[in-house]
Amino acid sequence: MELQERLKEVWSRIAAAVRDAGRPERSVQLVAVSKTFEADTIRLAIEAGQRVFGENRVQESQGKWPELKAETPGIELHLIGPLQSNKAAEAVALFDVIETIDREKIARAIAEEMKRQGKALRLYVQVNTGLEPQKAGIAPDDTAAFVNFCRDELGLAVEGLMCIPPADENPGPHFALLAKLAEKCGVKILSMGMSGDYEVAIAFGATSVRVGSAIFGTR
Ligand SMILES: *Cc1c(COP(=O)(O)O)cnc(C)c1O
Repeated sequence: MELQERLKEVWSRIAAAVRDAGRPERSVQLVAVSKTFEADTIRLAIEAGQRVFGENRVQESQGKWPELKAETPGIELHLIGPLQSNKAAEAVALFDVIETIDREKIARAIAEEMKRQGKALRLYVQVNTGLEPQKAGIAPDDTAAFVNFCRDELGLAVEGLMCIPPADENPGPHFALLAKLAEKCGVKILSMGMSGDYEVAIAFGATSVRVGSAIFGTR
């Protein structure tokens, strides 16, 4: 299958999962994860009509996205990988959404940069639902307090929560936990589900799925 066919297949599987869940049409956004792929490959997805993309590295993104964004108005770029505070300026300049706010230091750095650049990004908090030591994200028990801190102390409008469940576990309980935390925090966006489990995530209420290899192929 060609890239554009795989993309259309993902679109239609998302639509079917949304229907099966009894949820409103178009209530799930597809973030096409284009990390490691070159601009020419990404252009095929843009030509097919995809506008929302995810990348996990700031530096790699700087090498391809300024040009791709200049070519096509309406691109929405999400940072879905861990962010260091020394890259905050570059991240704020290039991205539209940062999904990986997970500690005070990075929240402060992003708040300062947004003020300095006069640019308001949309922000999600990453939650380490499996409490995996090697994985980024705030602990589930600390999430509500952290979201309140971002709002009240830093004036950041946190819109969503994001998680990456442990690779070797049934993702359902992790998706359910994220949905529960989002309700507790009063946020509407749930970024969860990847190539292997995005339909499951939609059944658990995902409003945004991050799909890479099912569209672009293996990395
Ligand atoms: C790479 C990546 C994805 C996409 O993973 P696939 O299995 O290729 O769909 C989703 N989310 C994050 C945070 C990623 O780093």
